[in-house]
Amino acid sequence: KVSLKNSIDKLKTDTLASVDWAGTTYEWSQDVQNTLKNVFHIESFRPKQLGAINSTLSGQHAIVVMPTGAGKSLCYQLPALVKPGLTVVVSPLISLMEDQVRSLTNRCIPAKLITSTGSKEESSIALDILKDNESEIKLIYVTPERFAKSKRFMANLQKCYADGRLQRIAIDEVHCCSQWGHDFRPDYKYLGILSNMFPNVPILGLTATATASVLTDVQKILNIPGCLVIKSTFNRPNLFYKILEKPTSQEECVTILEKLLNGRYKGESGIIYTNSIKDSEDITKELRKRGLRVGCYHANLDASTRTQVHLKWHDKYYQAIVATVAFGMGIDKSDVRFVIHHTISKSMENYYQESGRAGRDGLRAECVTMYRMQDVFKVSTMVFSSSGGLEHLYGMVKYCLNGTQCRRLLIAEHFDETWGDADCNKMCDVCCHPVSNAKEVNLKPHCKTLAGIIQNADQQDVKLTAQKLLDAWFLKGPVNLRHKGKEPNFSRVLGEDVIAYLLVGNYLIEDFHYTAYSTISYIKVGPNMDAVDDDSFILNMPIRRYSHFELQAPPATDYKPAIITVKSEEGSKTKKPKIESLTVKSEEGSKTKKRKSS
Ligand code: ADP
Ligand code: MG
Ligand code: ZN
Repeated sequence: KVSLKNSIDKLKTDTLASVDWAGTTYEWSQDVQNTLKNVFHIESFRPKQLGAINSTLSGQHAIVVMPTGAGKSLCYQLPALVKPGLTVVVSPLISLMEDQVRSLTNRCIPAKLITSTGSKEESSIALDILKDNESEIKLIYVTPERFAKSKRFMANLQKCYADGRLQRIAIDEVHCCSQWGHDFRPDYKYLGILSNMFPNVPILGLTATATASVLTDVQKILNIPGCLVIKSTFNRPNLFYKILEKPTSQEECVTILEKLLNGRYKGESGIIYTNSIKDSEDITKELRKRGLRVGCYHANLDASTRTQVHLKWHDKYYQAIVATVAFGMGIDKSDVRFVIHHTISKSMENYYQESGRAGRDGLRAECVTMYRMQDVFKVSTMVFSSSGGLEHLYGMVKYCLNGTQCRRLLIAEHFDETWGDADCNKMCDVCCHPVSNAKEVNLKPHCKTLAGIIQNADQQDVKLTAQKLLDAWFLKGPVNLRHKGKEPNFSRVLGEDVIAYLLVGNYLIEDFHYTAYSTISYIKVGPNMDAVDDDSFILNMPIRRYSHFELQAPPATDYKPAIITVKSEEGSKTKKPKIESLTVKSEEGSKTKKRKSS
């Protein structure tokens, strides 16, 4: 029964989605155009905005899925002005709502925020707007807990509805309803009553989370199964994606960053994401020692310092901000030319958001991730206790381990979309250096060796971290932990890849142990290892290509729209005779050669 209902709901959504909502012959179409130009001073809609606006003005419940920065707010702000009555906007963060109310007020659009932080009198005035038939306020912003915790708010909202003034309920960041998402907020579940309490009032949910499971869950929780889902593409064609080999020492990392800032990204603005406050402070200090103007940003700084740092970056005094992910909200700098991840993100969702802060102006920008196996455990020990935490992280690791498929393809998969290679336009490292037939390593014999090492250690009551496992495998470290066979005939870097590959495939698993100061990840044999014994079982890992990247030369080509074929490869050598490249690795990632600039 459940599955039948799900199929019917899905059919409903598909049918609704097959309607072309972006028409211009609705009774409100002229009004919509005028409001866009005269009130918002915007010349034209971005993809899917008009469809979202028409559908909600038609009274449909709808969920709008667009990447961050695509312009979701307009989808409820504009309709609010086209029809009489009040739009209630639910949003999780006061600061976000304050920003919106401020910018609406600047455009002479009457909007108000109901807070619990302001004075009694203030919130009382805001609450009375709901009851006041004469009020000229068009949009009212509230946090979700209002619906659960404020009787007075609910009573006033009832009155507003009874008077026929409740025009629409917009729920921003609507994925917060779902536990499957990455940002579950318990207060959002109270919003499930709205569709029954206010029949005929269209609900408009908005989010940048596109996974099918989250969207169906949201529909279920809001009691609007089978509603229209309007989704724009998540492809950002002007962003170049790249994985960079991360050296083992912090000093070498800083050297790479220095070279990038002084070379490839000279005079450009960007962000360097780290995964700890300490890293962000250390790297800032080191880069400053080397004469670079960078700011540091994390949650432990007080609000005024943070604002200062942000402004200095905005005004180009700082070339880059070295930040934790606390740096994100309210970045409206459109000419961010690079986002470097010094440590991998905790999920693809996060990576997409963080890297997506580059290139908002539509011009070419680069998203570079520094990857090495050790960082997997830096992050896993932080996320393993949250539901889906490891699974999300492993999605990110798969992206990093990939060296044979277009990076866009992997990002698209995450958003349940399909983007062909053609959509990449050589805007990722893999497409830039295509490998005609990637070499593969047969992992079966190595699986046996690794499982043997782990069992042998276990018998001696020794737990192995990934590094220790790697040591024993390469016949390093304590002799009693080593295996009896030969060491692998490939590099340690590739060995790291093998271990990470086996982890994300559940052939190996992490086992977490707390100490007084930290959490340690040990490696154990995973549930899929059994299958390896089967003769007919094949387990080959495509060898990642460690492609070349010019740290000091600027990117070779400016991004051109997809129709134009960009002939030259990334970092082409035209007119740049003495280019230094820090590390050049052969396809097998075997030996690291160093070339010095002359
Ligand atoms: P989202 O909520 O999807 O992250 P916002 O609604 O905050 O994005 O909009 C991001 C920016 O894009 C805002 O500055 C907004 O004014 C601008 N914007 C929205 N729609 C358009 C448009 N059609 N043309 C130009 N700018 C737009
Ligand atoms: Mg938004
Ligand atoms: Zn590609």
